[in-house]
Amino acid sequence: MGRLARLREARWVTESDPELACSQLQAFSRQIPLLYFILLVNTMAVAVTHWQSAPAWLSIYLPAVLCTLCIVRCIRWWHVRHRVLTGDTAEAELRQVTWLAGLFGVAFSAWSLLLFPYGTAFEQAQVAFYMATTLVGCVFCLMHLRTAALLLLSIVILSFSTFLVFTGYPVFIAMAIDMTLVGVALAVIIQLYYRTFADVVHAQRELQASQQKTQRLSDDNFRLASIDSLTDLPNRRSFFASLRAMAEQSLATGSGFNVGLIDLDGFKQVNDIYGHASGDLVLQEVGSRLLAQAEPGLFFARLGGDEFGVLAQQRLSDEALVELGQRICDALSAPYRVAGNIAELSGTIGWAAFPEAGKTVAQVFERADAALYFGKESRRGKPVIFSTEHETRIRRSSLVTQELRHADLEAELLLEFQPIYDLLTRRPIGLEALGRWHNTRLGAVRPEEFIRIAERTELILHITEVLLHKALDEAARWPCDLFLSFNLSAVDISTSARARRLIDIVAASGVPPQRVSFEITETAVTRDFEQARSSLTMIKQAGCRVSLDDFGTGYSSLSYVHRLPFDTIKIDRSFVTDVDSNSASKKIVKSVLDLCRNLGLECVVEGLETASQAEVVQALGARAVQGYLFSRPMRACAVAAYLHTAPGQAYALDAQR
Ligand code: C2E
Ligand code: MG
Ligand code: MG
Repeated sequence: MGRLARLREARWVTESDPELACSQLQAFSRQIPLLYFILLVNTMAVAVTHWQSAPAWLSIYLPAVLCTLCIVRCIRWWHVRHRVLTGDTAEAELRQVTWLAGLFGVAFSAWSLLLFPYGTAFEQAQVAFYMATTLVGCVFCLMHLRTAALLLLSIVILSFSTFLVFTGYPVFIAMAIDMTLVGVALAVIIQLYYRTFADVVHAQRELQASQQKTQRLSDDNFRLASIDSLTDLPNRRSFFASLRAMAEQSLATGSGFNVGLIDLDGFKQVNDIYGHASGDLVLQEVGSRLLAQAEPGLFFARLGGDEFGVLAQQRLSDEALVELGQRICDALSAPYRVAGNIAELSGTIGWAAFPEAGKTVAQVFERADAALYFGKESRRGKPVIFSTEHETRIRRSSLVTQELRHADLEAELLLEFQPIYDLLTRRPIGLEALGRWHNTRLGAVRPEEFIRIAERTELILHITEVLLHKALDEAARWPCDLFLSFNLSAVDISTSARARRLIDIVAASGVPPQRVSFEITETAVTRDFEQARSSLTMIKQAGCRVSLDDFGTGYSSLSYVHRLPFDTIKIDRSFVTDVDSNSASKKIVKSVLDLCRNLGLECVVEGLETASQAEVVQALGARAVQGYLFSRPMRACAVAAYLHTAPGQAYALDAQR
């Protein structure tokens, strides 16, 4: 830094540093009363001693004016002492105070110099003493305002020393020299003090800035750690933190609240068909639709994947909960624009109330999950409130799980077989193996129940093996033109090793793989589309056939069927129940039959119970059918007898007409 610049910095540093100016004025403000106290006391003391010797305008009026000015400034200070200074006002104020210090310096010096010639040597010495003590006192009070202090020091020392030198008295000359030297020392002290003060202010400012930065960083981190970056909704962690806080508050106040869990139906398919980027867009859209539903006391969060959570701070009545849930479900079921197409999704929501449904956070969450589970199974796209029915289900489910774990599955698992029938030749063409479980404690457990529970615990892998062995043992005894259709779960094809295990079991059984068809439901293939595709391809390459079971109950689209190596599609019985009375069902069955024909796939129509249904589906072009009309599932030991009389059974259809 050049000399000139340093000098400029020394004089006007405050101009370019508003924050420093604020600190200077704050520090000075504390000294103002003392400054004027020194000025007033000293001035009055000198005025009083010169009462007799000096003229009245010098000993009374002028000091009175000067003292009034001091008092006015003091009053002003009193009024503004608590004001908050900004950078701009501080700089202007600092300049004003500097000029004022200069003016006061000139005024008081002039007054004392004018007074000097009056009175005796004692009184002159008093004036010199007055100047010296007042100057030192005022300079110390102005310590934080370097420019003002140096200006005052220069004015007083220069004027007074010059004046003393010109008196010609050696004592006064010595005094002048002394004053000048002390003045220089004071200037150095002011400079040193000011530097230290400025350094402390800068250090404090930096500390504050770094504290603010740290605070900002930790705020940012906290925000990032509690927000889901895709949807901008609070994340799972934040959801549970709010849930815990609400539970604590609820227990303390005796109030309640509601927890809802939302799961999207059909999201997996969007992801598989249109890709993950489109899936992300759908999730973002879901996030903004949920946010649009938010209102005071209603919070939404993304818990992961296509699962969302909602907290309703008020304990709502069941009717209000259903209404709110339906509003959310309606918002979610509006069509989504994905990659230029329209995707249909829906959301199911399970509600549980705290503390009625669960007295802990984990319990109430579990209950909401149970309600959601129930909804996903039987009330998709609708709100479900946790009830004792779900509680009974949870208990039953854990009982069945326990028994499944400890049961002798080899002995307790059985199979029934239901024929698949050709309407044209009027002969059975194959049999579907249906698992049955007779437990010593629970009795007969429905396949839908034990299979669903076994799927959740992976016990299904063992069950599939046991049943497949038994089914192949039976199939080995049937005529060679009959195939075995065997149901698989998603878990059975969830890895290539598992698919390989099935192939090995078939190979070891001696039943030609061409006679074995594996059925898999839509929901099973949609769980992990790519893995399902590679497992099914392996199974096909081993010579077995693969069928898509319960077609129409999930969210399959044509592109699904097309991209998986199916040989057969089985139309779910829900379309068949009213095929003879409902034109929509009839159209669906017809279009699936047409689709199969076009794609060169076999088609089995499931669940035929009446001759009229059979007639309609036959007219629509169906050949392979299955249902109670032809045969209910039968025990393995009954199959031989059935097959023996089967051609006769063919006319059962005619007989029923
Ligand atoms: P699914 O594979 O679609 O089997 C057909 C179901 O429909 C069977 O019920 C059968 O008894 C029933 N059914 C057949 N014809 C008619 C009819 O005309 N009317 C009515 N109302 N029902 C009919 P089931 O045996 O209770 O099996 C239910 C489901 O459990 C099966 O549906 C299948 O998804 C699963 N399942 C059964 N056995 C096994 C198995 O060994 N492994 C696996 N993974 N799943 C199995
Ligand atoms: Mg089946
Ligand atoms: Mg089926």
